[in-house]
Amino acid sequence: MGNQKLIVNKAGWKRLSKGHPWVFSDDLADTPEMGKGEIVALHDSFGKFLGRGFYNPQSRIAFRLITRRDEPLTRDYWKNKLEIAIQYRDALDLDGTARRIIYSEADGFPGLIVDQYNDCLCLQILSLGMESLRNMLIDLLREAFSPSAMVARNDAPVRKLEGLSEEKGVIYGHLPEELMVRERDLLFHVNLLEGQKTGAYLDQRDNHLFLRSYAEGRRVLDAFCYDGGFALHLMKAGAREVVAIDSSRLALEHVASNALLNNLGTIETRKSNCFDALKAMARDGERFDLIVVDPPPFARRKSDLSSALRAYKEINLRAIQCLNPGGLLFTCCCSHGVSHDLFSSTIAEAAGRARRDLILLEERLQPPDHPILFNEPESLYLKGLLFRCL
Ligand code: SAH
Repeated sequence: MGNQKLIVNKAGWKRLSKGHPWVFSDDLADTPEMGKGEIVALHDSFGKFLGRGFYNPQSRIAFRLITRRDEPLTRDYWKNKLEIAIQYRDALDLDGTARRIIYSEADGFPGLIVDQYNDCLCLQILSLGMESLRNMLIDLLREAFSPSAMVARNDAPVRKLEGLSEEKGVIYGHLPEELMVRERDLLFHVNLLEGQKTGAYLDQRDNHLFLRSYAEGRRVLDAFCYDGGFALHLMKAGAREVVAIDSSRLALEHVASNALLNNLGTIETRKSNCFDALKAMARDGERFDLIVVDPPPFARRKSDLSSALRAYKEINLRAIQCLNPGGLLFTCCCSHGVSHDLFSSTIAEAAGRARRDLILLEERLQPPDHPILFNEPESLYLKGLLFRCL
């Protein structure tokens, strides 16, 4: 397995030698029809071995590096990689029962995401190569976790780019009717089949906890709240009043049921487009002491970049206008294609437009169970900035 050869051109070699784990189809000397989704060996034009990875001639990302070593990629290889990923998470000692176990390239599994919710696992297979190892992966996960259920959330549109169709469903065991995960001292209902992403935004767990120390006595707005991760934690931590806005009715029903589940006071939910709601509140003089802005990724493709930046600027401008003097803004960006610097300068522009000054209090990233592969900038996607707004 993995001995068919692929030759990379100079541009592709340059990218790889800077550490990036992908080779684009344009950067292969040839795109032979061999082994779709199979593991192949990558060589430079002088015949030097560079590594092994998945080959998919149908995808723009034609080669995804698995290893730079000349080692056999057997079942034991993957078993060992999985054990390393689990040991790393165990050592983090996360304060909750939901966590990411595998995060794609950053864990050596290009195109695979595995999230754990109590004793259930949720998989997302996003590359043809991983799809072709599907049965083995399911076996390895069963051995490692003895899960009560495994769900595939292969309904991500990016699968199309790999020539894969979208599907979702239970692939092993029995999914409990009600699944409740813990985040520190709060419980959240999750629905692995119908929820957004793999059921929850696990990447915001540590930020939910981090922000609690700023809640006391404040009037809070959780904009783009989903099932109320920020809203509930801030309420629990002593916020005076919490308003949560989302465009999804289902998400807001979960905010209410999660608040009840945790014996919290009433969180006011408003079903609205946040752009309209914040603009109206800014105009009508509704003010808050802490605003969380956690929108979906506005830039899913490179071509979306300028409209995405306009959207980040607009939503943050309105949030800043809704803050009392001295109020706090926690603003997030989960677009892979918007760098930290670009995001920061967009927020600075929004503050300039609002004629307010911002004091930077903290810079946050995704949590360590979503590791950042530093030589693959795309793997750092979640940026969060906490400001005091003068
Ligand atoms: N803050 C949440 C995650 C938010 S994900 C957490 O910590 O768990 C982004 C949310 O924005 C989703 O719930 C989605 O339904 C919502 N959304 C997307 N576009 C929106 C819009 N224009 N107005 C309001 N909500 C929107």
